[in-house]
Amino acid sequence: MTFDIIFMSLFQNALKQLEAAAEILNLDKADVIALSLPQKVVEINISLLRDDGKIEHYTGFRVQHNDARGPFKGGLRFHPDVNLDEIKALAFWMSIKTAVVDIPFGGAKGGIIIDPSALSESELQRLSRAFIGGIKEFIGSQKDVPAPDVNTTQQIMAWMVDEYCKLTGQNDLGVITGKPLVYGGSKGREPATGQGGFYVLEELAKKMNLIPAHTSIIIQGFGNVGGHFALLAREGGYKIVGFSDSSGAIYSQDGFDPSQVMEFKKQGKTISQYSQGDKISNEELLIKRCDILVPAALEDVITAENADQIKAKVILELANGPTTTEADKILRQKNITVVPDVLANAGGVTVSYFEWVQNQTGFYWDEKTVLERLHPIMVNSFEAVWQMSKEKNIDLRQAAFAIAVKRIAEAMEARGLTQ
Ligand code: NAD
Repeated sequence: MTFDIIFMSLFQNALKQLEAAAEILNLDKADVIALSLPQKVVEINISLLRDDGKIEHYTGFRVQHNDARGPFKGGLRFHPDVNLDEIKALAFWMSIKTAVVDIPFGGAKGGIIIDPSALSESELQRLSRAFIGGIKEFIGSQKDVPAPDVNTTQQIMAWMVDEYCKLTGQNDLGVITGKPLVYGGSKGREPATGQGGFYVLEELAKKMNLIPAHTSIIIQGFGNVGGHFALLAREGGYKIVGFSDSSGAIYSQDGFDPSQVMEFKKQGKTISQYSQGDKISNEELLIKRCDILVPAALEDVITAENADQIKAKVILELANGPTTTEADKILRQKNITVVPDVLANAGGVTVSYFEWVQNQTGFYWDEKTVLERLHPIMVNSFEAVWQMSKEKNIDLRQAAFAIAVKRIAEAMEARGLTQ
C-alpha cells in the first residue's frame, strides 16, 4: 500500500510538472492529454534458467512515452524496486530531456524487477538476452533505442545488441547505446554527463558572476558523474570543499584535490576511509556551507525535511530527480537557483545520440570531436532555458519543461497527431 502511494506520486509528480508547463504555454488540452499518457506500455514475463537448472520468472517493462520528435530513447534498469509507475515517470522525463537539448529523439524507459547481484554472470547474460527476445519487435535504431541505467552496464548492452542482431538478422548497432568501444560505443561517453554538467556550470557562472576561485562546491556521490565533474571543476579553478559516497562524507574549508580522492577510490577504498578533512554524515554534507551543491548520487535527497537548511546559492542537479516537488517550492522561496536534471545531466544522452549517429554512418569520431560537438548543445540549451526563465519570471526547471513541452507539442502538431 505504501509502495502504491510512493509510485503513484512519482508519476503524479511528473504530470504536475507537465500541467505547470502547459499553463505557462497556454497549451491545448488535447496536447496535455496526449503528453500525459505513454504511447505504449509493454510488460513481459521473462523466464530465466538458473545455473542449478531451475526456471524463475521475472517481470520486465518498456514504456514508450512519446516519439513525435524521433525514435524513443531511454535506459533500462535492473532493480528489485522497478515498477510500472516509476518507469512511466522516467519515460516522460526522457521525452523532456531529449527535447530540452533538442536532439532528435523521444522518451522511453524500461527495466526488470530483479536484484542482479544475486545472479551469476551467465545468468545475467541469459536474462539480458531473454529481455530482448521479449521486446525485439518494439525496439530498433529507428524505433526505440535503449541504453544503460541503474545496474546495467556496457557488457549487458553488448549482449543485448548481439541478441537483437541475431534475432533480426541485421547488424543494427544503433539499436542500443552505451556499448563498449570495441562494439560500436562512442569515445567520450564515460565522462559525458560530468562534462556536460561542467559546461552548464561555466555558463551559469557567467550569468551569476561567479568567480571560480571564490566559489566552493560540495558534491554528493563520487561515481562516474560526480567524479568526472569534480576533476573538471577543480581544473576550472573551483574549490571542492566536500564529497561523499555511500560510505560517508568529508568536508574541509581548505578544499580537496579530487584527483587524489579518485586515485584513493580506484584502490577500492571509500570516502569514509580518506584521511583528510572532517568526517561527517551524508545528511550533514548537504546542509554544509558552500556556494554550489551538486547532487550526483540518488533521487529524492533534497526534501521538505532538509531544503530549509540548505545554505548553497545554487543546486546543480547531476543526479536524476534529486529534489522533491515540496523541496523545490522551499528552494524557490529561499531564492536558491536550481539547475534542473533535465538540463544539467543531459550531456550523457547527448553523447548517446552521437553514438547512434556514428553507428548509422559507420564513421567514428575521436574524443575531441565528441566534446567539441557536446559543448554548443549544452551552451545553447542552457541559454534558451535561462532566457525563458527571465522572460516569463519562472524558475529554470519550469523554463526547461516549458521549452521541451513546446517542442514536443509543435512536432505533434506538424505531424497532425493532435487533430
Ligand atoms: P555511480 O554508480 O557511478 O555513482 C553513484 C555514486 O553515488 C557512488 O559514488 C555511490 O557511492 C554514491 N552514493 C550512493 N548512495 C549514496 C548516498 N546515500 N550518499 C552519498 N553518496 C551515495 O552512478 P553515476 O553513473 O555516477 O550516476 C549518478 C547519478 O547521475 C544517478 O542519479 C544517475 O541516474 C544520474 N545520471 C547518470 C548519467 C550517466 O551518464 N552515468 C546520466 C544522467 C544521469
